[in-house]
Amino acid sequence: MTNYIVVTGGVLSSLGKGVTSASVAALLRNSSLKVSMLKIDPYINVDPGTMSPLEHGEVFVTADGGETDLDLGHYERFIDATLSKRNNFTTGQVYQTVIEKERRGDYLGKTIQVVPHITDEIIRRIKAAGKDLDALVVELGGTVGDIEGLPFYEAIRQLKHRLKSKVFNIHVTLVPYLAVADELKTKPTQHSVQELRRIGIAPDMLVLRSEKPIPKEMKRKLSEACDVEADSVIEAIDAKSVYEMPLKFYEDGLLKPIAKSFELSDLKPDLREWKKLVKRILEPSREVVVAFVGKYLELKESYKSLLEALIHAGAHNDAKVKLKWIDSEAFESEDAQKTLEKCDAVLVPGGFGSRGVEGKIKAIKYARENGKVFLGICLGLQLALIEFARNKLHIKNADSQEFNANTTEPIVYLIDEFIDQSGGKQIRTHQGPLGGTMRLGEYECNVKAGTRLAKAYGGAEKIYERHRHRYEANGKYREACEEAGLIVSGEAKGLIEAIELRDHPWFVAVQFHPEFTSRLQNPNRAILAFIENALKQKSSA
Ligand code: GLN
Repeated sequence: MTNYIVVTGGVLSSLGKGVTSASVAALLRNSSLKVSMLKIDPYINVDPGTMSPLEHGEVFVTADGGETDLDLGHYERFIDATLSKRNNFTTGQVYQTVIEKERRGDYLGKTIQVVPHITDEIIRRIKAAGKDLDALVVELGGTVGDIEGLPFYEAIRQLKHRLKSKVFNIHVTLVPYLAVADELKTKPTQHSVQELRRIGIAPDMLVLRSEKPIPKEMKRKLSEACDVEADSVIEAIDAKSVYEMPLKFYEDGLLKPIAKSFELSDLKPDLREWKKLVKRILEPSREVVVAFVGKYLELKESYKSLLEALIHAGAHNDAKVKLKWIDSEAFESEDAQKTLEKCDAVLVPGGFGSRGVEGKIKAIKYARENGKVFLGICLGLQLALIEFARNKLHIKNADSQEFNANTTEPIVYLIDEFIDQSGGKQIRTHQGPLGGTMRLGEYECNVKAGTRLAKAYGGAEKIYERHRHRYEANGKYREACEEAGLIVSGEAKGLIEAIELRDHPWFVAVQFHPEFTSRLQNPNRAILAFIENALKQKSSA
């Protein structure tokens, strides 16, 4: 029977509930349990796919094409598992299912209510995600007391009532430090637990986010005031790297009360590999500087998976990947040489819309002409092709239909087959992406033997990576590009999926998003090769 760990949050948001949840799951997984994770988002959107990255951070794409909350990315990175759409759901989805059922007449004329119909649907979805597992870690988004969260807390209360000690609640709260009084304060935690109990959930464990170590005496006080066992008050002190958290939690004894509640024998995770990687993240012996030419620099969360993938690749190379942030819009009027000269490599990530595009093209041109190690991702590949067409093939008007719908030279264009495949409605957001009309999720890619891409993936003939884009490279220009020194190193069903340059140390661009499959213990091969080559070039310079 599946055990459930439900992680709730109190006091305020951004306490690291996602990392706490992922850390717990990582510890269980490294204890040889079959574990998965579920994120519940109490907002009304049916999926986060159309939410602005500025407001919500990155949209994480699952292998089965789900556009999910960025926390799912943390989960995959921590537990090295491939999750699916089923591992994330929102209030919008729950209501959509219930309303569809009602329209079909499944409820036989009954009055449809939050309790039991909405709560039953929530429980059904939790159980579906927990099928055939030893444990499912469920993270409930938001903070206790939020109006939107109430049906979910009620569903969890019911689940706990039915499954008793098989449901374990971890409540994550804040213990603020007041500098003027030189004191840590427990009152917010007490109030938050009171609120949780008022809804009918007694927490089994407190995880206390704090800037400073929490004294034993304070933990004891909280254990009494909040009615949790003395060994179940765990601290989460600000760490230099999120990957330290599983190690810290384990040292603080987080697994013991969980094992006891689930009647499992002592849980002894094997953390040797994890520790080694964390050590390399904290004390790397080398350094490499990557120019990150992006648009959403105000909110770096929108590049979360890529930033983490670079950390993974760095750790496996015993190197710190230092980023030089380049605002692509401002870069349009900067001196490329001056800005990029001191960087060891150039990275152009994915993006939407035309803002800042010319700056990215300028950076690509510099990398191509000056032999800088380069990786282009999704939009990065599309722009690399446009740059090549404009400056190598002398097609002055080379463009993408995304920026110029009537361009006479559509190097990057829309293919009808990929439009409205899902029958989804077209919803325009101010970022530009349209809901339900993208090529999403994992696709097979055939790799050309002998290329840098093939080498990066250990000689694999077929690789599987995830996509999230609407436009494609136009095959009409392929021959001309190849004649001028461009190699198509990856393709699938006639689509250009990866390119590189013949006369360049390492210039690779991919239509997929390699960052979505990078895990701490299993880094993405393309990004690993990018960092390896940047280090190589640096040492030979
Ligand atoms: N905007 C481009 C497209 O839709 C690239 C998308 C991306 O970089 N994820 O095709």
